[in-house]
Amino acid sequence: MPHRLESESRKLLGRLREALAADNEGQARLDAVVNLIADSMMTEVCSIYLFRDAETLELCATKGLQAEAVHQTRMRLGEGLVGRTAYSRTVINTADAPAAKGFRYMPETGEERYSSFCGVPIQRLGDVLGVLVVQSKAAREYTPDEVYALEIVAMVIAEMTELGAFVGEGAALSARHQQPVMLRGSIAQEGASEGVVYLHEPRVVVTNPISEDPETEAARLRDAIEDLRKGVDNMLMGARSVDTDQVQVLEAYRMFANSTSWLKRMEEDVKSGLSAEAAVEKEQSHARSRLSRAADPYLRERLHDLDDLSNRLLRILTGQGAEARADMPDNPILVARNIGPGELLEYGKKIRGIVLEEGSVGSHAAIVARAWAIPLIINAKGVTREALNGDPILVDGDQGIAHLRPDETVQAAFRDKIAMQTRAQERYASIRDLPAETKCGTRISLQMNAGLIADLPSLAGSGAEGVGLFRTELQFLIRTQMPRRAELSALYARVLKAADGKRVAFRTLDIGSDKVLTYMKPNDEPNPAMGWRAIRVGLDKPGVLRMQLQALLRAANGQPLTVMFPFVTQMNEFRAARAEMDKAMARETKLGHALPSKLDVGAMLETPSLAYAPDAFFEEVDFISIGGNDLKQFFFAADRENERVRKRYDTLDTSFLAFLSHVIKRCEKSGTPLSFCGEDAGRPVEALCFAALGLRTLSMRPASVGPVKHLLRRVNLDEVKAVMDEAIANGDQSVRRAVADWLVYQV
Ligand code: PEP
Ligand code: MG
Repeated sequence: MPHRLESESRKLLGRLREALAADNEGQARLDAVVNLIADSMMTEVCSIYLFRDAETLELCATKGLQAEAVHQTRMRLGEGLVGRTAYSRTVINTADAPAAKGFRYMPETGEERYSSFCGVPIQRLGDVLGVLVVQSKAAREYTPDEVYALEIVAMVIAEMTELGAFVGEGAALSARHQQPVMLRGSIAQEGASEGVVYLHEPRVVVTNPISEDPETEAARLRDAIEDLRKGVDNMLMGARSVDTDQVQVLEAYRMFANSTSWLKRMEEDVKSGLSAEAAVEKEQSHARSRLSRAADPYLRERLHDLDDLSNRLLRILTGQGAEARADMPDNPILVARNIGPGELLEYGKKIRGIVLEEGSVGSHAAIVARAWAIPLIINAKGVTREALNGDPILVDGDQGIAHLRPDETVQAAFRDKIAMQTRAQERYASIRDLPAETKCGTRISLQMNAGLIADLPSLAGSGAEGVGLFRTELQFLIRTQMPRRAELSALYARVLKAADGKRVAFRTLDIGSDKVLTYMKPNDEPNPAMGWRAIRVGLDKPGVLRMQLQALLRAANGQPLTVMFPFVTQMNEFRAARAEMDKAMARETKLGHALPSKLDVGAMLETPSLAYAPDAFFEEVDFISIGGNDLKQFFFAADRENERVRKRYDTLDTSFLAFLSHVIKRCEKSGTPLSFCGEDAGRPVEALCFAALGLRTLSMRPASVGPVKHLLRRVNLDEVKAVMDEAIANGDQSVRRAVADWLVYQV
């Protein structure tokens, strides 16, 4: 950039800083900004359009257009040159605006007299807040240097808008992040909870977009880059000793951190008068709008790297974020784009509710949330943009709605709802020690799913008869390195002690799919859910499986022990896994350790193939547990994590029920105990239908035991079965409607 223009834009920013610092109302500030830009750029018109809602832009200040048009002229996103600038997130610069594609004549502004038009999106981190426009009568295109200066100013306006600088009496601008917002998503875990927003990745707030001294800012930027590079080098060194794949990823990452063109662009921004933080954000915004258009996966990946590096750099510059976890509020509602099970487990049960921008019901993070009975909403579009740390928020998991910064009426209605739920919980507590016995006298064993020591107190609290599924991988997920055998065996011993004689079905490690251990080499598989996971890993690399089996045997220390293998698809896999158990027992005997007084070794049926295994399998296995979450995804060929397809298929679909009946019959024939431990077992209507089909053991999250027992105790299973049979005979796709209609008159 030529020196003259550089100092011009610096001067402009200096004047802008004074105008913004003046003790003015929001509207007066906006007016001052447009006057100032028009003046210094010697152009007849300068206007600012800001979003009134997600789809509508409003003229909020102008120098040069009719003053009456302010707050009157509006256009939809994509409409006219202004709307197109916002929509395309790119600069539109034309010498002949009326001839330009998309031009819209707006008589109230007197616009037709202006030939040249330059619109620059006002954007912050890829989020378009409005458009800055200059126009002039003379037919000319604005020079690249002028456009650059406008981009710099637009960046400052974006920051100031975010900080609420243009809000005030009469300004008719609503403050961002201050109004109540209702966000609608999908239900992933029912329940209601009230709390304050706790961002998984806190937004960095830049309060000083304009610098006072470019020299100082340039030095700050250089120092921060230096820190960033050192940090990446350290990460790389750490990874070199353990993991070659990760090294490759980090090498690419380091290349970006060392990119001279990235640094040069930011240095130019700083020379033009932006603070170091604002310069980083400006280039990050550019990268994000390119990211939103990039179709090439490699380019997208690199732009993601750049985005991530920019965030790190911003945290270094502002000192924000590093200590973010330290100030977790008392009643945190976690807000995130998405979260993995390991990260969620790290936060622990302190979290009162979760709202995710993405996410899926079948993910393991969702299972953890359900196990803890934390209301969870997924697919809540815009939540990470709208929510700020500390904002009050209500999570209505029953309806999949989050109320951000709710007003008093919503708050009051919500508290009524929480009170009602508390009363329901009291009702369930009153039947806690009674059996889940139906009116026809059938006893159903209700068990609970667990995975952490912290889950065990729920065994007594929920009234569950045992732990039907103990997901051992959760213990591996919360660690940063592979646990040792002695550690594991101590942990399993604590689980058995806490269970106090009740049965605990330990499922051996089920990793792969969405359960990724950071300390194990990642597998780049095209479809990890159908890839190298669970028992497949256990059999191919038996070291960990052997260590786990040994730890379990030692933990049992002569008491009864129940173990099951995940994701068994064939009889031979079960046999091979069982052989590992036999070998482990032989080793223990040799070492003089006590063997369990009773050992049950079972298999999880999670793929349709196992239902058609030879009779010998059903005879050899001590029990079978149906993992409905995985089974359903393979039965319907519908990814459990893909919201779009997951919801198409009902668990009570007659074809799925026919399949379950087949499994039940085979188990009855061989006398094999059968249970169901997928999430569906905890849904009262599903549980009822499973019991009517013949399942006698259901394992579910602890909070479901009460509602399921409550319903089971009120029905006669023969009647339920008759209703289901009738729906099947009628050719219904699912029995849900028929059963739900029937239930209305029963309970
Ligand atoms: C299942 O698939 O139903 C199951 C219980 O296992 P997970 O959800 O852990 O895959
Ligand atoms: Mg499974």
